Formats: sequence, C-alpha cells, structure tokens
Amino acid sequence: MTRGADSGAFLGSARELQKQMVDRYYSSLQPGNERKPVAYMLVGGNLAEIVRAFGYEVVFPEIVALTCAIKHTSLDYILKAEAMGYGLDVCGYVKNDLGLQESGGETVFGKIPPPDLLVCSFSGCYVYVKWWEALAEKYGVPLVTFDVPYMRGPTPLKEDMAYMVAQLEEFISKLEKITGRSLDRQELRRILARSRAAEEGWVRFLQRGRERPSPIEAYFEAVFYMFPINVLRGTQEAVDFYEAVNRDVDRRIAERQYPVPTEKVRLVVEGVPPYPHYRTFWDFFKSWGAVSVAATYPKVGGLFDRGFLHDPARPLESIAEYSLGAYVNQSWPLRRAIIADYVKEYEADAVLIHGIKSCRSFTAGQGDLRDYVSRELGVPTLYIESDHQDPRYFAPAQVKNRMDAFFESLEHRRAVSHAAGVV
Ligand code: SF4
Repeated sequence: MTRGADSGAFLGSARELQKQMVDRYYSSLQPGNERKPVAYMLVGGNLAEIVRAFGYEVVFPEIVALTCAIKHTSLDYILKAEAMGYGLDVCGYVKNDLGLQESGGETVFGKIPPPDLLVCSFSGCYVYVKWWEALAEKYGVPLVTFDVPYMRGPTPLKEDMAYMVAQLEEFISKLEKITGRSLDRQELRRILARSRAAEEGWVRFLQRGRERPSPIEAYFEAVFYMFPINVLRGTQEAVDFYEAVNRDVDRRIAERQYPVPTEKVRLVVEGVPPYPHYRTFWDFFKSWGAVSVAATYPKVGGLFDRGFLHDPARPLESIAEYSLGAYVNQSWPLRRAIIADYVKEYEADAVLIHGIKSCRSFTAGQGDLRDYVSRELGVPTLYIESDHQDPRYFAPAQVKNRMDAFFESLEHRRAVSHAAGVV
C-alpha cells in the first residue's frame, strides 16, 4: 500500500488568518497597550458573554498553557511549579499556569497580564476550584465561583436551570458592584447574537467532515480554529473568521486539496491532544492516510454541533444551558452516545482515544469507552496515553509502534472484507 504523504497546502489562508488573529490577541494584552481589565476564566461552560458586557477582556489560562506546550516551552513552567511543591500527578495545565505566574507571566508569545477578576466558571473538575483559589491568594483579586451541576440526562432539569439562572443573576450583581456600572442587557443580547453567528459558522466547518473525502481535519486542524470560538466568542472578529474558513474549505474542494492526498482511514478522535508533540502525533496519522472526520475535544468550548446555540432572546437561560451542556459536564452514557453518533454520521472506520495522564476528569472512563466502542459497536478502537502538557510522558517510538500495528490491522481487515466481497 502506498501511504499518504503530507498535503499541508490544504490549510491555505485559513491557518494564516488564525495565526494573525492569535498574534493580535496576545499583542492587545501587552503592557503599554491600552487594554481592558482582564477576567481569567475556564473554557468549559464559560461566561464570556457576561464579562464582555461589563468591558472585560477574557484570558483562558488553559489556552495559554496549551500554546506554551505547542511552542515547546511548557516544561520550564512545569519544573518551576514542581520546585514550588506541586506534585508529579498535578494537572499539567495547572503547573504550566502557576509556573508561568511565578515567572511574571513572560511567554515566548508575550506577557500574560495578571487577573483583575477570577471567574471559576465551571465545576466539572475539582482541580479548577483549587487552581483558582491559588491564583486568588497570589493576586488578592475577587474570585467568583459558578457551581454547575452534572448533566444526568439528555436535557437540562428545570431545577438545575433555576439554580444556574439564580447564580447568574447573583454574578451580575457582584460585577455591578465591582465595576460600578449596571449591566447593559441590550449589549449582552448583541454579544450573544455575535456568539451565535460564530457558532453557526463553526458548526458548518465541523460538519464538512461528513463529506468523502473529508475536506477538513476535524481534530488537528479544528484545534487551530477553536481559538476564536473560545477566546473571541461574542466579537465580530470571530464571526468573520468562520466565514473566511468556510470559504477556504470550498476552495479546497474546488482545488482538490485534502488533508491527506488519498483518504484511507476515517477516524473519530476522543481526548485532549499531546500538545508538546502535536506535529509528531499528526504525522503518524498522515503516514497512514488517516484523517479525523469528527472529534470530541474541539467541542470542549461548546457542543454547538449537537443543536445548542446561544440565544439572544433568552440571554441567561441560554448561558445556563450552555454551561450545563459542556462536554466534560456530560455523564459517561451521554459521552458514549455522542461518540456512537459521530461514528455513524461521519461514516468512521475506527475510533482513536488519547488519554491524558494528568487529567483524570477527561480521561477516567476512557478504558470503559474503548470496550464499549470495540465490543458493543464493533468498531476498531485504539487507546493511547500520554500527556497534554508534559513532554516527558510522550514516547514517540512506542506510540508509533502501536499506531502502526493498529492501522496495519485495519488494512488487513479491509483486505479480508474485499476478498470476501463484503465491500
Ligand atoms: S485536570 Fe483536566 S479538566 Fe481539570 S484542569 Fe486539568 S486538564 Fe482541565
């Protein structure tokens, strides 16, 4: 079999636009530039629209951390945090952030300003609360915690919604006191309308993975394009970006520029990427002509492709639904159902699960997921474990061996099916 080679040209102008957008965002945070006060928040179920309506800029330490990892600088911060006493098994995002804060916020892509406000906007992982408490102790700024109950069924419970909306009203009153201004509810609606427009554009992009061959890479490429849906949601810049990305995907199809020259394996991918070895991991996929057609991780900032969109006509209710519906806030039966649907809707041949050593919140349960997908759905599944931040936990030769063996067995299965006249 001739293995697929890299066809990086498929990324085209969309990737260039994304890089410019990321640069603009970090430049806007630099000292000396006139900038807004900064609210630190967490990606899952975040309250970006509300803090924006109060004039804050949003910083997501998780996104800063993954940017450090992809730029191969996370280990310095992790070692600094370990020297401060944080153990080997503490989440890599937390250690990256606390080591970075101890280094005065200096990164290779600019200085990260300290927070003016800490919003622990999600409670799906208990680590969040401790992380935000450590930041509050260091900076002495207001800390607000938003308690989000787990989703126990496919739709939010009435009592959960009432609890969340009451917390949002309380949050708004606190922000009114802190900022000395009233919430402009019309402005909040305008921000939510822009969020919704960006979400629609993002979903159009993600659903292109249903085409054969897929014109998009729904894991590695989508990770680049998550930035605006998380960091810039609520701005016109995010809306315009997804329009440009979707135009670029049309261009790819016209020019026959696909993620791999010949699509051989269509994958659903579950789990956070190994950011310090992102390119190496991607190359392992490409060398077998494998493309991810759907992935769960790019949905951590919102399961917009599953029907939820922010609604300016129901501002607080829709923000509450958004937070409840965060991917990591779903029970395992719900997560399994999402993956089963993706396999069917995107006509995937196999599922690849990447477990994270230092993140139990995302990873616990993935062993059972592997058994469910391979035994109950009958879909070949590979489970690999490394870390999202710590380069010491990625063993390239071992990962490659396991992936080679997996893709070889898929080829063999296909050859046997062909011989038997099944396909
Ligand atoms: S443990 Fe996992 S979910 Fe919790 S902060 Fe770390 S990466 Fe996020």
